[in-house]
Amino acid sequence: MSTKVSIFLGLGANLGNRRATMRAAAQRIREVVTDVRVSSLYESEAWGVTDQPMFLNAVARGLTDLQPLELLEAMQSIETELGRVRNARWGPRAIDIDILLYGAESIDEPRLVVPHPYMTQRSFVLRPLADLAAGLTLPDGSLVGEWLTTVSQDELRRIEGPSWAD
Ligand code: AMP
Repeated sequence: MSTKVSIFLGLGANLGNRRATMRAAAQRIREVVTDVRVSSLYESEAWGVTDQPMFLNAVARGLTDLQPLELLEAMQSIETELGRVRNARWGPRAIDIDILLYGAESIDEPRLVVPHPYMTQRSFVLRPLADLAAGLTLPDGSLVGEWLTTVSQDELRRIEGPSWAD
């Protein structure tokens, strides 16, 4: 018998047909994660570098019986597949899928750090995460909703409800 773990994934796309890539990623995620729910879709300025196209961002939650590194590998194959198929001209970074949270676990391995190290600083993660689970606590006991009050949401725009992934 396997017990499923509740996970949260951060999705971002800033090349090619961003919405189509986000939607395709959500559909692929549903092949390996059950009970998937997605946040609204947001548009944000590229983090750090501003001479890049705007990002689309969202968060997906769901249940998995994959181990953390198996989940990472599954998400990396989706990134590779969508990068290659949809936006080959633009290189492999058409879609970025981060593991934000894996149950209540703290993981610190060379290939995987969870909670994702920058998630508490990024409004484009915190805002969609709060859509899905404002009362969620991180492994250190801090609250997503409280982190959200510490970041600026000026460069974040909600552009569509969760139907973007249908
Ligand atoms: P990036 O290019 O920023 O998406 O980083 C990809 C690299 O981050 C991969 O080599 C992963 O092994 C590593 N990584 C570490 N922690 C995480 C995480 N929580 N989610 C996704 N990738 C991670």
